Parts: sequence; structure tokens; C-alpha cells
Amino acid sequence: MDFELSEEHRAIKELAAKFVQERLLPLEPAVLEREAAGKGLFLTPEEIAPIDQRSRELGLWGLDAPEETGGMDLPAEAMVGVNEELGKTVTPYVLPPDSPNLRMLLATVNPQQRAKYLEPYARGETVSAIAISEPGAGADPAAMTTRAVRQGNEWVLNGRKIWISRMERADFTIVMAVTDKAAGARGGISAFLVDKGTPGLEVARRIPMLGGHFTYEVVLEDCRLPATQLLGTEGRGFAPMQLRLSTRRVQMAAWCCGITQRALNMMCDYAPKRVTFGARLSERQTIQNWVADAAARLHACRLMTYDAAWKIDRGRDPRTEVSMIKVFATEMAWDTLDKAMQAFGAMGMTKEMPLQLMANRVRLMRIYEGPTEVHRWVVARSLLGRG
Ligand SMILES: Cc1cc2nc3c(=O)[nH]c(=O)nc-3n(C[C@H](O)[C@H](O)[C@H](O)COP(=O)(O)OP(=O)(O)OC[C@H]3O[C@@H](n4cnc5c(N)ncnc54)[C@H](O)[C@@H]3O)c2cc1C
Repeated sequence: MDFELSEEHRAIKELAAKFVQERLLPLEPAVLEREAAGKGLFLTPEEIAPIDQRSRELGLWGLDAPEETGGMDLPAEAMVGVNEELGKTVTPYVLPPDSPNLRMLLATVNPQQRAKYLEPYARGETVSAIAISEPGAGADPAAMTTRAVRQGNEWVLNGRKIWISRMERADFTIVMAVTDKAAGARGGISAFLVDKGTPGLEVARRIPMLGGHFTYEVVLEDCRLPATQLLGTEGRGFAPMQLRLSTRRVQMAAWCCGITQRALNMMCDYAPKRVTFGARLSERQTIQNWVADAAARLHACRLMTYDAAWKIDRGRDPRTEVSMIKVFATEMAWDTLDKAMQAFGAMGMTKEMPLQLMANRVRLMRIYEGPTEVHRWVVARSLLGRG
């Protein structure tokens, strides 16, 4: 058993840390100001262009994309360190390409789809979304009712999707739909590639969420797709979708490690400086307990996250471990942020500090990619049986 990162993976993590320090953290005051003014959490095109250029120059694009698309093909284990560093800032920047849809495409595309969708996506030239959730099917995606019916050389999609991230910016969306009602999740759900602007695909609503985030409601009305837009095997969309979800969940656990580390660092910097009733906050047992508990949980979470990534890299089924870390990481980060905000007093309640945005981000994470309760249920079922 070796707990050391390889030299290459450590160097990539350090590069990501340098990029966050030099390029993303300086943008935080502007990001915080815009969000506080109710404009949402975003970077302007003028802010994105130089950081895109810099991250590309540093070789931080396509980290886990295949080598033939210009990527580095790094394993999940290496991505943990990179995502931990990215988690340390509230500046909303994703190193292209976003890993979860990349993994789903890699598992499903045919040669034509590879050239048209996967390769430009892997090179960071396109943005993608995924539409799984529906008004009546969120935590339980198998309950989805969006239908795809084969008519000659076309698929016709009808239904409604909700809470979809990046929908307005996405060049293409992976839409999950039922192709065999009787088979359901066991052979009856398929994935489709739907290009932006396809007739019948309508963005119905932009929904403001916590922390300046937006999601979208989408209507599919007689949305006709050439048969070639089926992604993967008909009826077998659920397994690659789960692979995608596992990738995001491990990424979220790594982000939570970064978020927790930053909140802990902020507490440790501040507590020795603030004096109340003649003593420093750092001398109070309560604050010491907050710091010690956060550090212990962070250590455990990091090891759990690397363990899940290690298992993914070796082709093992990581679902139970991934559910464990989804719960553990998000609750750890949420609790540490709450303690850090408390330690800062009124300052911790301001929108001038990043803590509240970090907390809102983590609050969202306790819902998307499966709510906490469902992941606890998954873990318990693996121990207790389906009863
Ligand atoms: C910020 C954000 C971004 C999102 N982005 C996307 C996206 O890009 N694409 C997409 O398809 N979806 C997206 N979603 C949707 C997300 O995946 C769903 O919201 C999530 O799966 C929960 O579904 P729901 O909201 O319908 O809650 P429901 O399914 O109604 O569940 C509500 C609550 O019931 C409880 N619950 C449910 N089942 C159980 C159970 N078995 N045991 C115990 N308690 C249970 C939980 O407390 C849960 O929070 C996003 C959501 C958010 C918040």
C-alpha cells in the first residue's frame, strides 16, 4: 500500500494549485460583488479569455481526455488532486472538458459520433449538458416518462426535463428517454445526442438557484432526431449514465476537500487574531474542537476519495464507496463552513466573504447527483440487503 502520489500526479496538482492561486483567486472579489448584486455566479468573456489561454498554456486542458484527442489520459486518482485545488475558490471555472460527460461519451460513441461530438468536446471546443431529471423523476431517474419512439429512420422525443445545468450554453445535450416502457431502467432507457437549436427542443424557463447558480426547464415536443443520434445501445443508457454520475460524485468529493481545506485555513488564520473577553478565539476549547474535527474529517475524506478513484482506475465497482463519500464529503464541508462562518461572527455572514458562496455551493451538492438520503439508502442496502 502506497499513500504517496506519484511525482507526475503531484506535479499536476501543484500546477493546478498555482493556476488557482495566480488566476482564479484574484477574480473572486469581482465574482462576489456580482453575485451579491443578484446578477448570478459567472465570469465575463473578458475574464474567461485570458484564463482559458493560461490554463491551456499550462497544459491543464484535456487532463483526463484520451491522448489521441490531445489529452493526457490521466487516471481518476490524478484528477482528485486537481479537483481539490479547484475546490478552493468560488471563481466558477471548469478546466475543459468537464469529466462526467467525457466519460459517458467515451463509453458509448460510435466512430461518427466520436469525430462529431467526443473529439471537439475533449479538445474543449464545445460545452455539453445532460438531461435526466424530470418534474416527476429526480432522485429516482428510473421513473422518467420522457418517451423516444422510433419512426422509420428517426427518433421522436416527447417529454419535459427540469433542473438542467448549462442548458443555455450547451452545444449539445445528452437526453435520457424511455424507449421501452415495460423494461424501464433494465433495458428500456436510452441516451440521445441533441444538438442546440434542434426543432422541438425548447428551453422553457431559467430557474434561479442558491449561490447564483441557474438551472433550466426544457420541453421536448415532437423533437425529431435522425436514428444516428442514439448514443450507445438502445435500451442500455442507464449504465453509462451511472458511470457519468460516479465520475461527478468523486469530483464533488474532491471539491469538498478543497472547500473544507480553505474554510479550515481561514479559521486557523483568524482565530489567533480575534480577542473576545480577554482571550484569543484560538484559546477557546470550542474553536479548537471545530478545527481538530474538521482536520480529522478532511484527512478521512481525502483518503476515501483517493480510494474510490483508485478503485475506478482498476475497473472495480465503486458504487458503495462513491455513495459513502458523496454523503461524507458534502456533510463534512457543510459542517466545517458552518463552523467557520460562526467563528468569523458577523463577518462570516457577509457577502464580502467567500464562505457563504462556498456553503451555498455545498448545499446544492447535497441534492444533485443524488440526494444524501438516497446515497445512505444505497450504502445501507449493500449491507442489509434489499429486505
Ligand atoms: C444545482 C443543481 C443542478 C442540477 N443539474 C442537473 C442536470 O444538469 N441534469 C439533470 O438531469 N438533473 C440535474 N439536477 C437535478 C438533480 O439531479 C435532482 O434534483 C436530484 O436527483 C433530486 O431529485 P428531486 O429534486 O426531484 O427530488 P426528489 O426525488 O423529489 O426527492 C426529494 C427528497 O426526498 C428525499 N428522498 C427521495 N428518495 C428517498 C429515498 N429513497 N430515501 C429517503 N429519502 C428520499 C430526499 O431528502 C430528497 O432530497 C440538478 C439539481 C440541482 C439542485
